[in-house]
Amino acid sequence: MKDIFSLPIAPSFSSELPADPLTTNVSRQVKSSCFSFVKPISPARPELIHYSASLLKEWNVGIENKKEFTEVMSGNKSFLGFRPYAMCYGGHQFGQWAGQLGDGRAINIAELEVNNSLLKFQLKGAGPTPYSRRADGLAVLRSSIREYLCSEAMHNLRVPTTRALSLIKTGDMVPRDILYNGNVRAEPGAIVCRTSPSFIRFGNFEIFASRQDKKNLTNLVDYTIKHHFKELGSPSKTTYLSFFEEVVNRTLSLVIHWQRVGFVHGVMNTDNLSILGLTIDFGPYGWLEDYNPGWTPNTTDAQHRRYRFGNQPNVALWNLTQLANALYPLIDEAEPLENILTGFKVKYAHQSHSMMCNKIGLYSFDKVSDGLIYTLEENLRVSEMDMTIFFREISSFESFKWQDFKLILKQCSYMEESELISHFPKWKDWFKEYKKLVLTENIEKKSRLDKMKLTNPKYVLRNYMAQLAIEKAEIGDYSLVDELYTLLQNPYDEQPEFKKWYAKRPEWAKQKVGCSMLSCSS
Ligand code: AMP
Ligand code: MG
Repeated sequence: MKDIFSLPIAPSFSSELPADPLTTNVSRQVKSSCFSFVKPISPARPELIHYSASLLKEWNVGIENKKEFTEVMSGNKSFLGFRPYAMCYGGHQFGQWAGQLGDGRAINIAELEVNNSLLKFQLKGAGPTPYSRRADGLAVLRSSIREYLCSEAMHNLRVPTTRALSLIKTGDMVPRDILYNGNVRAEPGAIVCRTSPSFIRFGNFEIFASRQDKKNLTNLVDYTIKHHFKELGSPSKTTYLSFFEEVVNRTLSLVIHWQRVGFVHGVMNTDNLSILGLTIDFGPYGWLEDYNPGWTPNTTDAQHRRYRFGNQPNVALWNLTQLANALYPLIDEAEPLENILTGFKVKYAHQSHSMMCNKIGLYSFDKVSDGLIYTLEENLRVSEMDMTIFFREISSFESFKWQDFKLILKQCSYMEESELISHFPKWKDWFKEYKKLVLTENIEKKSRLDKMKLTNPKYVLRNYMAQLAIEKAEIGDYSLVDELYTLLQNPYDEQPEFKKWYAKRPEWAKQKVGCSMLSCSS
């Protein structure tokens, strides 16, 4: 098998787009450039904690020399022939234009050709860049484990995502104030190497639009289409509109996936939305446990809950509107952009309905009323049902007897049984209608249930699971990182050997920092 370092270097972003002429690594505004060349810092004692064997397998390569791999993936040694760089972007954060942001702690260390396509490799936490503002450019083990495990889990859940290749502990300690309340703690530093065909975000376009730099805006749009949307054709106003429409469709599809698996991104700022429609930047994300559309894991957003589960589709549309504003100078007409944005709402309603029907194993979508789905979601919310377990249990529900359905409700609810029972009449009405539709569709039972099991994962990376892995890793035991990585390779499979992870959130995790409460500190 070929070694990963034998993959050919194929720079496009850094060879085709304008570079920052300055190479001094100090925080500053970088104008008229897409990126700045910058070197990672050298960590004290890099230690390879984990790497994604499945990613290497997909690429058909191996790691011949672990030491060399660790040196490169920690930033100590460069990819031969590649000049590392950080990207310039801006963004709207929590609804406000925030100006230049950029890769403050991400450094692209390679662009490689893999299986006939081009992939970018980026180290997160490898030191400051011109975009670091007042921060240190570093990342801690806690947030790196969360990014590493969740990227790979998302991929296996069939949710579009950037991937994670390696997780390295740097040997340096990094000060962090987790809850922003003055309690600074020294935490172990870490670096994740993540990969993606592109790390371009909505904010990469917004920064040029905000600076009225139409030339570079056009450069970047043309580059993006040429490399990532080439089927849309050569640059023209029509192609730019098709490009925007395609980004809208991909973003919509991404959010549908998030809603399907109960993922809450937590910081859907425009600098965290990928132009390819991938999940990117795993910060204070979380997984819905009791079905509460108002829930957000991000304590920084606790007051307005802008990024709550149920608001993700609206925020996606809001962000797409900012992208439309950024692309406007190239199109010079508002109406076609507005029409595409209006289409989002219609398509979302339609696709969300189909997705929810899939989750309950009904496939004649147009025969299922919106009311049935609405009532289901409302019942799940008021009776505090664990989302993952509820949908998985009904994916093996054979008897269709009310008595048995009640057992599922009891198994899934976080409520006291006495309280839950008061919601049974509502559930009974819903169940009657649901059963009628299932019987009318008359699909062979096994094939219906098998299909449901491919829509409703059995295992997701619940916050408390990641937190347990983090606590062990902080004392040098990486066994749980490995166990969760393995478990989440096959989230739709029964995996009876891992059945302890098919359980509701334990009581202790309900109000624990790192489990239900996460901040942007990372
Ligand atoms: P995030 O909300 O984590 O996506 O980050 C928003 C912006 O802050 C991005 O420009 C990041 O690069 C930057 N940033 C976050 N943490 C750090 C850090 N420790 N050092 C430098 N920049 C950072
Ligand atoms: Mg970010």
